[in-house]
Amino acid sequence: MIKTDIAIIGGGITGLWLLSLLRSQGYEALLFEKSKLGSGQTLASQGMIHGGLKYNLDGVTGGASETIASMPGIWRQCLAGDGVVDLSNVACLAWQYYLFSDGGLGSRLSAFLGSKAIRGGPRGLEREQFPDPFTHDSFRGVVYEIPDVIIDTHSLVATLAQSNKDNLIEASPAPIPEDGQGIAGLRLDDGTVINAQYYIFAAGIGNESLLADSNIPIATQRRGLHQVLVKGDLPFLNGHAVSLASRDKPRFTVTSYTDDTQTVWYLGGDLAETGVNRNDKEQIEFARKELETFLPSVRTDSCSFKTLHIDRAEPKQQSQLRPDKPSCIQHGNVVVCWPVKLTLVPLLAQEVMDKIVKPPLPFTHPIPNTFRKALPGDQPWGNLF
Ligand SMILES: Cc1cc2nc3c(=O)[nH]c(=O)nc-3n(C[C@H](O)[C@H](O)[C@H](O)COP(=O)(O)OP(=O)(O)OC[C@H]3O[C@@H](n4cnc5c(N)ncnc54)[C@H](O)[C@@H]3O)c2cc1C
Repeated sequence: MIKTDIAIIGGGITGLWLLSLLRSQGYEALLFEKSKLGSGQTLASQGMIHGGLKYNLDGVTGGASETIASMPGIWRQCLAGDGVVDLSNVACLAWQYYLFSDGGLGSRLSAFLGSKAIRGGPRGLEREQFPDPFTHDSFRGVVYEIPDVIIDTHSLVATLAQSNKDNLIEASPAPIPEDGQGIAGLRLDDGTVINAQYYIFAAGIGNESLLADSNIPIATQRRGLHQVLVKGDLPFLNGHAVSLASRDKPRFTVTSYTDDTQTVWYLGGDLAETGVNRNDKEQIEFARKELETFLPSVRTDSCSFKTLHIDRAEPKQQSQLRPDKPSCIQHGNVVVCWPVKLTLVPLLAQEVMDKIVKPPLPFTHPIPNTFRKALPGDQPWGNLF
């Protein structure tokens, strides 16, 4: 038997962030990851730490935008090495990105974003300040600069893994159910039992089966995405494409990754949400048309296109809607976590800490060195092309 204060299941951003936070506050904690660290939603995420703008393009301030507004500041502190978790070695893809429109949105977008700009938000750019690929005469829209960070998710996972490497175990533990609240422990494949004061389920989609195996009645939902990847001789571009038709969601969101020779554009947003109803070929055709509409000067004929199907894991909502905030539900000694957005992980982690009562003495037992260590995975575009 191995004893520890806290056992975390799942090595995405939620589990890795919590492991760092708990250990920095003196807890003994172990994290169990069934495959590669980050290999669920985290490495597939676009890494945008946004302040909520994306969700209130129609000017309505909803729960999501209020909750999310304070998060970029917390991330910036961590990236500067000054926050609750040390992210000073994490690479950022960009420290700002763009909101750009097709030709038909001008005045409405300007009025809405103008009010945001008063609060130090997006800055409208004059035509002569436009970056590539908006400089071409064929581009008829407006461009705003948003001062939010985009994180390289691989670097994020690798940094958190490096600082906790002795506490990361590659395993898929089975909960040992108990009558009443919580669970009696975790069992590994080799029969080893893990006994902790608290068990944190941070397994993304894997929370579904962990909850079922633990007999814990918490309902979950998945919402699908059909992302598109475009590789070729493309400019480095990050941002949201919006139009009158996009209402409260960007028509598409683009983030860029580059090796020495070529760039990969990773496309999400409404294109990916509605794309679950299109097959791969239709989705690629749709993406080509969207790019032509918004970025008429960009030639994609010689680019290679791929698609990626991936589900977001969340607690069950009415009508499968997107939850407004992160979720952390306690059931006895089990705490079940869904951040809903990478951006919201600091808030979620604080809620988890508020639920945990620190044991008087570390509840620790050495980990056999026969256990395999869990290692970081790769971003999906690393293997797709
Ligand atoms: C395409 C896409 C783009 C996104 N873009 C953004 C964005 O730009 N900004 C933003 O804020 N949010 C974004 N998100 C949301 C964000 O990625 C997620 O909210 C966040 O990554 C969830 O992290 P997690 O650690 O809870 O789950 P995951 O990253 O899914 O990690 C769960 C981990 O648990 C492991 N696991 C599962 N079952 C078990 C088990 N039984 N035992 C052991 N391990 C197990 C998995 O292998 C996985 O590594 C995006 C999501 C997607 C899908």
